[in-house]
Amino acid sequence: MAHDEPSKSGPQTKLVIRNIGLVLSGDLSNPILDADTVVAVGDRIAAVGKEKDVDTSGATTTIDAKGTALAPGLIDSHVHPVCGDWTPRQNQLGWIDSYLHGGVTTMISAGEVHTPGRPKDIVGLKAMAIFAQRAFHAFRPGGVKIYAGAPVIEHGMVEDDFKELAAAGVKILGEVGLGSVKDGKTAHQMVSWARKYGIQSTIHTGGPSIPGSSLIDKDMVLETDADVIGHVNGGHTALPDDQITALCERSTRALEIVHNGNERAGLLALRTAMELKQLDRVILGTDSPAGSGVQPLGILRMISLLSSLGGIPAEVAICLATGNTAKMRQLDCGLIAPGREASFVLMDKAQHSAGKNLLDSIQKGDLPGIGMVIIDGSVSAQRSRNTPPATAVPEVLNG
Ligand SMILES: [Zn+2]
Repeated sequence: MAHDEPSKSGPQTKLVIRNIGLVLSGDLSNPILDADTVVAVGDRIAAVGKEKDVDTSGATTTIDAKGTALAPGLIDSHVHPVCGDWTPRQNQLGWIDSYLHGGVTTMISAGEVHTPGRPKDIVGLKAMAIFAQRAFHAFRPGGVKIYAGAPVIEHGMVEDDFKELAAAGVKILGEVGLGSVKDGKTAHQMVSWARKYGIQSTIHTGGPSIPGSSLIDKDMVLETDADVIGHVNGGHTALPDDQITALCERSTRALEIVHNGNERAGLLALRTAMELKQLDRVILGTDSPAGSGVQPLGILRMISLLSSLGGIPAEVAICLATGNTAKMRQLDCGLIAPGREASFVLMDKAQHSAGKNLLDSIQKGDLPGIGMVIIDGSVSAQRSRNTPPATAVPEVLNG
């Protein structure tokens, strides 16, 4: 099912979520809020606080959270969509809707590289990027927002190409290194042109992902200086440890850790960022659909992995997949604060988890159970069909 764009002229909706047991803000500097109620008007958060202190009158929809936790909808910083909700690499339909059931409400394309017959000539790659940007803007499987239209740079592109792409609405580049540009000097030039016109860039890091792609080492990553060090833990194959720590230390760009990478290397990048006191640079993705498959719970699995084995509190791990990514990607979702996008995931500890509550269950390595997902102030999914069942599940009281 696809959501229509919210009607600007229609009657204003008011969503009240009450009886929240734990509000996770997505903000690293203050990850847990002293609140039990969130109010959204239309597609924006209007108020966050104690029920007695916020205006809950006139709700068009009221949700009893039943004491469960509320967090910003999760952001997958690295996906490879192709066309609608279909992926040819796994020949699977409905994968994006399945990620919604893993709590993901926003996805960022790192290039529509699995497109069969992907054009590599310059006019062709520009046309494909503009098509993908338009198509995913207009079609939101399950309500999930997909920022796509991410061209992969090829030799021969000139400054005017980036200017033209930006004017057409393209805002992100696909992974540098997946096209013919494999040298840092050319990549740096093109990434700089992209940045000049407001287009954000990301680079493939590590060994080849699939036959036909190639190694991108730390020297190429540092020289290119893309905005995001894509899958710093490899996708799949990681760089040697000393190169990963060098990327953390010698660059100030975002450090993206993905599910489709080397988990030990991901933990190394996390620890290094913590030692540098630069956890705000760490963002999470799945890099799916990839050879390793479709991973509907990939972001939840990363949160659980980094918290249970990386030793960060669960509420901090959730910030890596919400507020950190929103800040890096300049999105207005990812935080529970007035004015931000009203997209939420409500979760509880999974039934029979050994953890004493949601956060403890994640820190013990379990996945949370999702009870509801809300996008732009409206309910997109109720009890997840993919997570283990949540102990308590929110209930829609009216509307
Ligand atoms: Zn890659």
